[in-house]
Parts: sequence; C-alpha cells; structure tokens
Amino acid sequence: MRSLSKGLQRIVKLIEQDIRLSFQIPDSQNMSSVLIGYDTEAGSTIEASYEPLKILEESINSLISLHVKEDVPATFFVVGKTLQMGHKVLKKLREYGGLFDIQQHTYSHTPLKSIHPRNDIAAISNDLEVNGATPSKIANEVRKTNELLSKYLDVKCTGIRGPWGYYQGLVDRPEVLKVLKENGIRFTSTYLRNKEDFFPVPLSVQPFTYKDQGFPEIMEIPAQDWIDCCWRVVYGWGRTRAFSKHLTNVLDKVASKKLVWGTCFHDWSVITMDHELEVMRTLFQTAKSKKVKVMSYSQYYNQAG
Ligand SMILES: [Zn+2]
Repeated sequence: MRSLSKGLQRIVKLIEQDIRLSFQIPDSQNMSSVLIGYDTEAGSTIEASYEPLKILEESINSLISLHVKEDVPATFFVVGKTLQMGHKVLKKLREYGGLFDIQQHTYSHTPLKSIHPRNDIAAISNDLEVNGATPSKIANEVRKTNELLSKYLDVKCTGIRGPWGYYQGLVDRPEVLKVLKENGIRFTSTYLRNKEDFFPVPLSVQPFTYKDQGFPEIMEIPAQDWIDCCWRVVYGWGRTRAFSKHLTNVLDKVASKKLVWGTCFHDWSVITMDHELEVMRTLFQTAKSKKVKVMSYSQYYNQAG
C-alpha cells in the first residue's frame, strides 16, 4: 500500500470495505473450486499488440507445459482475430484430450455492454469508458468466431467471456442474451466488475442462471476478485510475489466458505515479468493443498447444469 497514491489508497480502502460488507455465505453445498480462464487476445487489444504472434506462442507453449505437468485443466476464451493470426499455435491445445477447454471472447474484442468507471478510478487504472455493441453486431461477432473455432480447431463453442467485463453481467441485457442463445451459447462469464464498474467483484457473487430474464438455459459464471492485469496495473507489474500472496488469500476464503471462484488471466499478462509462470504454478499447488478443486469453466458448467 505504501507505493500507492493517497487517492488510490482511499479507493482501495472503500472497495475492501465493500467486500467485507457484501461477503455472504452462498446457499451451496458444492465443493470449493477455482476455475482457470485465460482470455486469449494477443494482437486484438492495445495492451496485447506488441509482437503478438511471438507473445502468443511463448504464452501457449509455457501454459501447456505447466498445465500438463500439474495436471490441471483450463479454459481459453479466444478472440476470433487472434485465432485467425495464431491458429497454428492454438491448435496445440487440442492435443491434450479434454485438459483444455476452448471458448470465445468475440471476434474483435467487442463489449457486450457499456462500462462507465468513475473518473478517479479510470484515471488510475487506464480504464476507459466503453460503449456496448448493438445486438446485431454482437450476433455477427459471435457467429463469426463460432465458425472460426469450428474451422481451425474443430471446436463447438458453447461459452463466452464478455470483453472488458460488466457489473451484474447481462441481467439487464435480455436482447443480448437472446442473440447469444440463438448462437449456441450456454454459459457466459460477463460479471467481472463491481458496482463502481471496477474491481474486485466480491466472492459473494456466485454462478447463477438468467431464468429471471427468460433464459434459464444460460448460466452466468462470474470472474470475481481482480482481473489479473488490472491488479498488476494498480499494485505494480513488478510485484509478482505480492500478487501470488493476494491469490493465496483469495483461495483461503474460497476454501473456508466452499465457494466457486472464476479467474480471469490473459495470454499476454501471465508471462509479463513472470516468464516461468510462478504465479500460476503457486496458485495450482496452493489450491491442491487447500483441497480446492481446479477446473475449467466448461467442467463447472457441465457439473452444475
Ligand atoms: Zn479481453
């Protein structure tokens, strides 16, 4: 905290207070689990635009080695444009049976809903005001990416991560849910922001279905706590060990309250200043030691549905 500005310290304090207040034990008998998700977007966002194919190759190769060695599954939410550029690299994920689950992250990293972070938060995090796309644009983006996943990887896509993430996911966007349903989507991971349109999302937010919106067949699997790159932008990219410690603290809560924790890492950010993937290795090993089951998003969806 010492290295944070006063304004930022105040915001972090407010957010932490919010977590304490809203943290509740959900009505669930499920075993505690952590779902591993990588938004795979090299070459499709500003942050991931430097030598994208090289970054993608290094990241995917390193992640495959680690996941195979630790025998833990993961979901890769792939942007269509990244797939067009790097399908030869991403195809390797298909060589390991069911270990890797491949879903989509739209064709061009298009937001499914608008985001309006407070000005002070936006200033410290480089987070931008973003306008959600129209349902017809979303339909095109999702359909096109489905076709690319089928063509290059022989994958039938049923899940989507919403680019940027939104407060309360798609509960107020039935028109978007309709389009997703028509394009075969059965689980969404879009609830990635708290009521400040920022991070972290409290762990009391647990998976739910959109039955109140008329779509009981679609499950929302939120990604709580912090998106990895945003934690590191706010607290410091060089603080790898502090980030690991933070994730261990989250795992402690997940284990003791029997919760489901959806994570959001990125192809480009996991290897930034952590080429040996120490953060991910520590997360997997700590989860195992605390008897928290490590799963992919699809495994969770299939088990819960
Ligand atoms: Zn993304």
